[in-house]
Amino acid sequence: MGATRALITGGAGFIGSHLAERLLADGEEVTIIDDLSTGSFENIAHLEQHPNFRYVIDTILNEQVMGDLIDESDTVYHLAAAVGVAYVIENILKSIQINIRGTEIVFEQANRGKKKVILFSTSEIYGKSNSLPFREDQDRLMGSPTVNRWSYAATKVVDEILALAYHREKKVPVVVVRCFNTCGPRQTGQYGMVLPRFVKQALLGIPITVYGDGKQSRCFSSVQDVVEGVVRLARKEEAVGRIFNIGSDHEITIEDLAARVKELAGSSSAIEHVPYEKAYEQGFEDMQRRVPDLTRIHETVGFEPKVGLDELILSVISHFKR
Ligand code: UDP
Repeated sequence: MGATRALITGGAGFIGSHLAERLLADGEEVTIIDDLSTGSFENIAHLEQHPNFRYVIDTILNEQVMGDLIDESDTVYHLAAAVGVAYVIENILKSIQINIRGTEIVFEQANRGKKKVILFSTSEIYGKSNSLPFREDQDRLMGSPTVNRWSYAATKVVDEILALAYHREKKVPVVVVRCFNTCGPRQTGQYGMVLPRFVKQALLGIPITVYGDGKQSRCFSSVQDVVEGVVRLARKEEAVGRIFNIGSDHEITIEDLAARVKELAGSSSAIEHVPYEKAYEQGFEDMQRRVPDLTRIHETVGFEPKVGLDELILSVISHFKR
């Protein structure tokens, strides 16, 4: 039997490029497709000469190309999607189209050869729920559709439903992973993500911008840990047809994160509070806390996050310094 052939949609993005690296190291053949809307060639430039690596610059909305690429693959890691709260708010229609139609194309094409699909979903799906920690099967609490932020979660829920339906009715092997604030080298702050933004601000000595009162919290996980968990799930038969939280369950408030980044970067930046409506738009809604219950992924593949917060922040700092 030849090497396993992986297709990574959104493979020139932050998580996708780390996943590509890992699968190549494991001896797999890796093809990525990316339209470079938020991904960048820089993220994959170091893989270009690898004999088992191939890249296609195109959109996943191109059915012909997607059909051919999926036919030539064993497993599809579907990451191509609108990314980042700030990006989604500025590109609502485009985000809906890529997240819904794009994912539908992935499943339509995967169905023909019953190819395995690993769908990357998001903790954003839990919305404003305050029943913590979040379990995969619990209720969600979505804000009104008039609040732009929630359109992203709504599209991702449709993706999850599609995945489960293709599994139940068409016997397509699918695994859904819900990522919780994944961070690491190559993540850009351009689309709103807090950690790269804070690190950049700290290193430039400009104010670190904490939105709202800073009491809201998140759990930040390393892309290395997330990739490890995803790869294990992709290779585990018992994972098929199920949804998994993935990330870290170590919670920190955003104001504490700002202070930690400032200290680890040895920065003299001020920590400045910015009202949400100034940072995003009028009527913006944030979630106060977001913590995953990791029991299911732990029981299924023995997943445990290994990289601590300081180590994670330091890895982002050294990336930005380079
Ligand atoms: N945030 C912040 N300053 C920034 C960017 C984000 O305080 O410069 C906050 C944001 O309002 C949210 C948290 O950091 O409460 C995490 O934001 P991010 O966009 O990284 O992820 P998400 O909201 O999806 O968890």
